[in-house]
Amino acid sequence: MDLYEYQGKELFRRFGVPVSDGRLALTPEEASSAAAELGGEVVVKAQVLTGGRGKAGGVKLAGGPDEAEARARDILGLDISGHVVQRLWIEKASDIAREYYLSLTFDRGEKKPLFMLTREGGIDIEEVAASAPEKIARLHVDPLMGFQPFEARWLCFTADITEPGEMKQVIAIVEKLYAAFIGTEAMLCEINPLIVTPAGEVRALDAKVTLDDNALFRHPDLAELRDLAALPGQERLARERGIAYVKLDGDIGILGNGAGLVMSTLDVVAQAGGAPANFCDVGGGAKADVIVSALEIITADPVKAILFNIFGGITRGGEVAQGLLDALEQMRIDVPIVVRLDGTEAEKGRRLLAEASPPNVHPEATMLAAARRVVELAGAA
Ligand code: GDP
Ligand code: MN
Repeated sequence: MDLYEYQGKELFRRFGVPVSDGRLALTPEEASSAAAELGGEVVVKAQVLTGGRGKAGGVKLAGGPDEAEARARDILGLDISGHVVQRLWIEKASDIAREYYLSLTFDRGEKKPLFMLTREGGIDIEEVAASAPEKIARLHVDPLMGFQPFEARWLCFTADITEPGEMKQVIAIVEKLYAAFIGTEAMLCEINPLIVTPAGEVRALDAKVTLDDNALFRHPDLAELRDLAALPGQERLARERGIAYVKLDGDIGILGNGAGLVMSTLDVVAQAGGAPANFCDVGGGAKADVIVSALEIITADPVKAILFNIFGGITRGGEVAQGLLDALEQMRIDVPIVVRLDGTEAEKGRRLLAEASPPNVHPEATMLAAARRVVELAGAA
């Protein structure tokens, strides 16, 4: 799970990593009152789960409430690499003398957390790694020994951060970042830039935190952040129901059982000239209620037709067909639904569908025929 900058900063704050004061704002008016509360100059920052916001015009300085409101109007609704800005973080502006970079990530190759520290912050670390790799201090922490204070000093000296007052603060931040990483079972904690103010104060100006989904059950305190992670409604619903859902940009809804089958369904639909609107995997053994949820999720996208591709193993064709019929009773689905059922209980499923024969359900015998049919129906819509 990726956290928004403001959530990452909230975690940093809990672990004692210094961050600036700020407020969340969802509207230009809220941005204005946030700026009034904070006082003085502020930064208006787009909260989206992608980097490069600064370059994309998603980070703007504002002199006061009125300007903050105007900048909020500019930034809200902005599309940053496919992420539409719906929330803003209004933060007390910082004066910047230098921008450093500090991160802690899980290095799967070494099976150890890896620290990276460099004076070359503010820009993409990939650029620094490509052009001046020698400027990045890299250190693996032995997870059994745990973090040792001398390692923070070694990082600072290696990165050429030696001014005593500054070094002392960076060392403290390194140590606290490690505590945050371990304490939350994160996969990534990145601070870019880690700034030094003209007065010599060191602070995290940005926060990128990725938590390990598989460890979240051990952290009920982070559940609150997960709710706020404002996945689009569909993705939240999908997660709650144990459905794997990924939004794509076409107009044909895809529902299948098993990731491999759904992936090949996407390919066959593309081959037939169509564009999938999503990837929706109901998994093995899906019962009727899961099918209903999946259809709710899929029809929240602007789909022109839907393709059901079910190969029954532990999933029973009868259950799937019943789920589809239940869904059609519970909700209004106007678009055509092409159904290909094979495997366990396929006969029973087909019989159920044939008996009920809802007007917009079109059975097909093979995957390719189903893909062609759904593309044709979507085109006609
Ligand atoms: P990113 O572009 O998504 O990584 O967003 P950042 O939060 O890292 O902000 C991008 C850049 O905006 C930073 O590298 C800074 O140069 C600038 N910036 C952000 N906050 C402030 C601030 O409080 N004061 C000033 N002067 N610049 C800021
Ligand atoms: Mn950044």
